Amino acid sequence: MPENMLPLEDAQAILLSHIEPTPVIEVPVWRAQGLPVARDIVTDIDLSPFANSAMDGYAVRAADLARASADQPVTLTVVGHEAAGHVFAGAVEAGQAVRIMTGAPVPAGADAVVKYEIVTVSGGDGNEGSQVTFTEPARVGDNIREAGLEARAGEVVVHAGEVLTPAGCGLVASAGAATAPVHTAPRIGVISLGTELVAPGDLPDRGQIRDSNSSALMASAVAAGAEPEFFGIAADDADEIEGLIRRAAASCDFVITSGGASAGDYDFVTGLIEREGEVLFDRIAMKPGKAITFGIFAGKPFLGLSGNPAAAVVGFEMLARPAIRKMLGHPVLPRPRQTARIAHDVRKRGPRRFYNRARVERDAATGELTVTEARSQNSALLSTMQAANCLLEIAEDSKGLKAGDEVSCLRLDIDEGTVL
Ligand code: AMP
Ligand code: MG
Repeated sequence: MPENMLPLEDAQAILLSHIEPTPVIEVPVWRAQGLPVARDIVTDIDLSPFANSAMDGYAVRAADLARASADQPVTLTVVGHEAAGHVFAGAVEAGQAVRIMTGAPVPAGADAVVKYEIVTVSGGDGNEGSQVTFTEPARVGDNIREAGLEARAGEVVVHAGEVLTPAGCGLVASAGAATAPVHTAPRIGVISLGTELVAPGDLPDRGQIRDSNSSALMASAVAAGAEPEFFGIAADDADEIEGLIRRAAASCDFVITSGGASAGDYDFVTGLIEREGEVLFDRIAMKPGKAITFGIFAGKPFLGLSGNPAAAVVGFEMLARPAIRKMLGHPVLPRPRQTARIAHDVRKRGPRRFYNRARVERDAATGELTVTEARSQNSALLSTMQAANCLLEIAEDSKGLKAGDEVSCLRLDIDEGTVL
C-alpha cells in the first residue's frame, strides 16, 4: 500500500484523538431524548413516594376477607375515599374499607386493594357510609404498588452516558429534574470549495454545477446530532478559501469543507492547513474517499472532504459522524454490520478498501439477507447513495466477490450500538 495512504481505522483513531466532548448544558428534559446524559441523574425522593393502588377499587384489610366466598360473602363499611388529590387521613379498621382510585396512596391499616369490578355495592353510592360486599379473599399486597418500587431517594435512575429514551425523560422528570445535562450540539461549519459552484437556487451556466455537497453534508451533520452552519462557497482562490475557513473556525467546533482536496492545480486547502495549522493525514486507503485531509486549523479540527458528492458523504460518514457522536458523549462505535449474500459478482482492483453503495434486503421466502450493489459506484452520483441502505465493505486485499459470497454490510440507516 502506498506509504501515505492511511488505513481507515488509523485515520479514525488519529481524528478522534483530537476530538473532545462539547460543554455540558441543561436542556428541558424532553429535549434530551436520544442523547446521552452527561451526569448521573439521582432521584431526590422515593419513586413512588408512597404505596399506591394499581386499580380503582377498595382498600381493605386482607384478614377481613380471609373467608369470603360466593356462599359466605363478607360486607364491609366504607369509611372514606381516596381520589386524585384527596387523601383519606384516617386508618382502615377491622370491618372497614376505603374507596380508592388508581395511583392514590394506600391508607393506613389497609394491606390490599380489591378491584371495583368484583365488589358489589350493597348499600349506598359506594362512598362513605356505603356497604360493599366481597365474594373472594384478598391477599396482602394485592394491587398495591410499593413505595420506592422504581427507586429509593438518592439512587441513580439514569447513569452518565445512557441515552435517554422518551420514557427515560419521564423518569428524569419524576426524579425531580426539569432539565437534563447533555453535551451541546457540536457546531459544524460547512464550506463548499470550487469556482464552478453555484447555489442550488441558481441555474448553472455551462461549466457550472450546483453546490449539492453543502446540503448533503449539513443534513449528515443534523442526522449525527450536530448543528450545522453554512459559511458559503469559496472560489478556488487561496485567500477566499482562507477567509471562509477562518470565519468558520472562529465560531464552530469543527470545520468541514468539500472540494479542492486532491492535488489538482486549484486545490489549495491542504496547503493552507499545512502552512497555517497542522495536517495529520491527507490520504486514506478507501474508495470512495481517498483524498481526505484532516488537521487542526486555528485550534479547531478541520476535515477537508473530496468534492465528489458520494465520496463527500461517505467521508463524512466514516470520519465526521464518529467525531460528532464523540462530542455528544456517545461511545465510539461503528454502524451495525450485517452479513449478507451478494447477489452478483463484484470486481475490485487496487489496494484500497472499498465501500460500495448497496442495498440489503431480506428475502421474504427464504428469510436470507441479500445485498445488491447500486447500478454504478461512480462517486459523482448521489441517486445511488440516496437508494442505498448500506455500504458493502470489500477488504483491501480482496480480488473481488463472487455471487453468493457472504459479505459484510455497514448499515447506514441504523444507529450505532443497535443490536440487530
Ligand atoms: P474536487 O474535489 O474539487 O476536485 O471536485 C471533484 C468533483 O466534485 C468535481 O466534479 C466537482 O465539480 C465536484 N464538486 C466539488 N464540490 C462540489 C459541491 N459542493 N457540490 C457538488 N459537486 C461538487
Ligand atoms: Mg474543485
